[in-house]
Amino acid sequence: MSYDPENIFAKILKGEIPSEKLYEDEDTYVFMDIMPRADGHCLVIPKTPARNMLDATPDQLAACLATVQKMGHAVMKAFDAEGVTVQQFNEAAGGQEVFHLHYHVLPRHKGLSLRAPGQMADFDVLKSHAEKIRAAL
Ligand code: AMP
Repeated sequence: MSYDPENIFAKILKGEIPSEKLYEDEDTYVFMDIMPRADGHCLVIPKTPARNMLDATPDQLAACLATVQKMGHAVMKAFDAEGVTVQQFNEAAGGQEVFHLHYHVLPRHKGLSLRAPGQMADFDVLKSHAEKIRAAL
């Protein structure tokens, strides 16, 4: 299994397709998931190529997890959440659909289930959620 440099997140990193950016540092980039399973659902990716956890370097994994932690605090603050779920899928059999390493960060509230996958966001709502997260950072 190799890295496809034309995958959709590689195109986001190259600025070829738009994303609702929340944060970036030297090694990682964070943006809103366009099919959010919870309000504030965002994605953390490394800026360098990795198909998923299985081929990533320890440095890529460490950089991503440091940013995941930062975003976990930010989304909890922005949405007054009581917890945060982090998801990361590897290969199609493991639930992966986009083959550039990414971590889902989802703020959670007691008793509130995640929404079903595959439902496109209202982009005005997505933008307003992004503004709340950026303000919390
Ligand atoms: P998975 O590979 O199963 O972890 O899921 C890929 C995730 O990427 C899904 O939650 C999609 O909603 C999300 N996604 C796909 N295309 C885009 C995009 N252009 N911008 C933001 N999120 C995306």
